[in-house]
Amino acid sequence: MQTADGTTVRAIRADITTVAADAVVNAANQHLAGGGGVDGAIHRAAGPSLMAQLRERYDGCVTGDAVITGAGRLPARHVIHAVGPRWRDGAHGEPEKLRSAYRRAFALAAEHGCATVVSPSISTGIYGFPIATAAPIAVAEAVTALAADGTPLREITFALFSDADLAVFIQALAEAGRPAS
Ligand code: ADP
Repeated sequence: MQTADGTTVRAIRADITTVAADAVVNAANQHLAGGGGVDGAIHRAAGPSLMAQLRERYDGCVTGDAVITGAGRLPARHVIHAVGPRWRDGAHGEPEKLRSAYRRAFALAAEHGCATVVSPSISTGIYGFPIATAAPIAVAEAVTALAADGTPLREITFALFSDADLAVFIQALAEAGRPAS
C-alpha cells in the first residue's frame, strides 16, 4: 500500500527471481555457500558470478547480518545475502536475529542507493521459523526502513511462494496499518 509519504510496502505471490528491483534479498546461510530453497533458486537464476563474488569478498556471514554482491543475470543491481536464524524453540533469540537480518539487509540496500527491494520470507522455509511470528517482524522492519530520514528506499515487496504464506503477510500488513490496496 502507498502512503502519504509516497512509500510502498506490499506482498505478492511470485518466484522472487522474476521480480525486477534494485536489490533482491536472499535468505542465505552463514557459510554463504548456496543451498536449497530460495538461496538455490537465486544462485541458479543469477549465474556463477554471485558465488564467485561471495568467495572473493566474504568469509561467511554471522546470523542476523547481511552482505551484498552484484546480481548476475537477475533483473536487479544487487543481491543482499541476509542470514536469518534457524528456529529452535523461540527462546534462543530467534525473533531478534530475524529482525536484525531484515534491518541489516534494508540498511545495505539504502547504503547502496536502492529505491526498490524485493525480499523473501527469511527463515520460514528450511530454517523452520513460524511464519505467523516472522511476518509481523518482516513488515515492521520494512516500515521502519522506509520511514528512515533521508533514505532512498521507496518500495519494499515481499515475494511469497505460496498463497498461504501470502495470506499471512497480507494480514501482517493490515495489522501494521499498511493494508493491501
Ligand atoms: P530459510 O533457510 O531461510 O528458511 P528457505 O529458502 O528454505 O530459507 O525458505 C524461505 C522462504 O522462501 C520459504 O517460505 C520458501 O517457500 C520461499 N521460497 C523458496 N523458493 C522461492 C522463490 N523462488 N521465490 C520466493 N520464495 C521462495
